[in-house]
Amino acid sequence: MAEARKFQAIKGVRDILPPESALWNRVEQMAREVFETYGFGEIRLPIFEQTELFARSVGSETDIVSKEMYQFSSNPQFEDLRDARAQALRIFDSVARSSSQPLPGFFVASVREYVELIETKVNSGLLELNKEIEERLSSLKSVLSEAETEDEQKFWLDLRIKTELLKLSEDFALRPEATASVVRAYIEHGMHTLPGNVKLYYIGPMFRRERPQKGRYRQFYQIGAEVLGRADHPRIDAEVIEMLVRFFNSVGLTGTTRYINSIGCKQCRPKYVERLRAELVKVKDKLGADSQRRIETNPLRVLDSKLPNEQEMIATLPRIADHLCEDCKKHYAELRAQLALRGIAYEENWRLVRGLDYYMRTTFEIVAPGLGSQNAVCGGGRYDGLVELLGGPPTKGIGFAIGTDRLILSLQDRSLQDRALQEAASRDSAAAATSGSAALATTSLDVYVAWMGEKAYPTAMKTARMLREAGLRVELPASDAKLGKSLGLADKLGARHAVIIGENEVASGEFMVKVLADSEQRKVRDEELVGHLKGARNV
Ligand code: ATP
Ligand code: MG
Repeated sequence: MAEARKFQAIKGVRDILPPESALWNRVEQMAREVFETYGFGEIRLPIFEQTELFARSVGSETDIVSKEMYQFSSNPQFEDLRDARAQALRIFDSVARSSSQPLPGFFVASVREYVELIETKVNSGLLELNKEIEERLSSLKSVLSEAETEDEQKFWLDLRIKTELLKLSEDFALRPEATASVVRAYIEHGMHTLPGNVKLYYIGPMFRRERPQKGRYRQFYQIGAEVLGRADHPRIDAEVIEMLVRFFNSVGLTGTTRYINSIGCKQCRPKYVERLRAELVKVKDKLGADSQRRIETNPLRVLDSKLPNEQEMIATLPRIADHLCEDCKKHYAELRAQLALRGIAYEENWRLVRGLDYYMRTTFEIVAPGLGSQNAVCGGGRYDGLVELLGGPPTKGIGFAIGTDRLILSLQDRSLQDRALQEAASRDSAAAATSGSAALATTSLDVYVAWMGEKAYPTAMKTARMLREAGLRVELPASDAKLGKSLGLADKLGARHAVIIGENEVASGEFMVKVLADSEQRKVRDEELVGHLKGARNV
């Protein structure tokens, strides 16, 4: 017999239950409405993509790509082939990067090993090659057979390219973010030929292998938007931020702080990064292990550090604002002017660099109260050049992602506080019971159909159907109960009304309608029921 076993959701992954899920729906619906007034349309994206898409766009040195992605292979039984190929390519790249020496023989050996592994599998019938792959295999073998060639450089390069092309299993990753997918889709569907800027929004889950804590999950949700096209006027950046402010206002998230910064472009940032690196090297001993590593891999990320003992030192580092090129300076100044024109308050934060490689110029982050150290509810910025990096035409882009989990947490935190305050202010007043936060309203039932006796059921069923067709939220119990018990349950479920249907009511076509909050009751005729209950809902 199977062992009885209790299952639990995986660590860092959670269920969103009613009534909280209703709040999620309202928030997402509000995003749709606000974003659509700014001309955005929804894009529904796949949950997984080629790993390479994220490695290229987000950047292979970022935390997201280097350690946070959930990956799997398209062909799990050929993972050894995938590893053998990756090994050969890795040897080539590391040697090619670190020296000008001719590559050692073990690169050739690793490629041979890969080819032999494929052939063993083919010979034993485990693997069947299609025509294209067969051609790639024989083309790689023919390069291998010319090992003693004159032009060594060409030989190595050829070998690398042919090895790369001979791919039998692909790597996929659950998406850790969605900008890369939006850009992929933009290119794939030739959206650059559309008139004007292309404005897209998405809503859905993202996946990152992180240490779970409040406001940080392994499956979390984002609401994001992107503007792609030829124009990069700072008015676009300001309008995107304005749209965010409108959205946050409309869901009732107040007290946010909006941070902005410019992190320069291809012209000015590399010089700044070198200066920063030079300064960091001087104080290396005073830095923690993460920051020490980042001096090499990604010095900008050191500015992101939250370690208390690094703060004093970071405050003395050179600031990018002093190193922007003329064009970036102008773009940033105009962004600030545009925000002022729109009456949007902001704070400049020179340490706001964002963790993804693709950002340039404008970056911004919105921080909300009530979230402890996971307080960023939205991050975004400009990413001109990302489309080109992924093989598309020259294109400008800007976008953001809102962390829905954190937004909801902040709204809940606030409404619980509001409610506590209100209840304290009017402890005995009846208002306290029905007020509270509009966002968190839990009453979701209009009518409980309390029927008694099997003969009443067909009428109860038809009545429930009629009320539901009229748009009311109705609970029809599957079996009957004594009136007192039914009304008790109706009350617990938060229903506003109970419609009582017994055999007498079936015969007379007149039902008893009870208001649960104050026990008021009256008889209502079948044909007046909808009008009566809907009228009552609107008061
Ligand atoms: P953080 O610095 O908090 O790790 P991030 O820079 O990794 O954030 P982005 O990749 O810019 O975040 O994602 C945008 C938003 O998505 C964040 O501001 C945050 O609200 C949310 N977010 C990111 N990672 C998580 C997570 N693991 N759990 C919940 N929300 C998240
Ligand atoms: Mg993060």
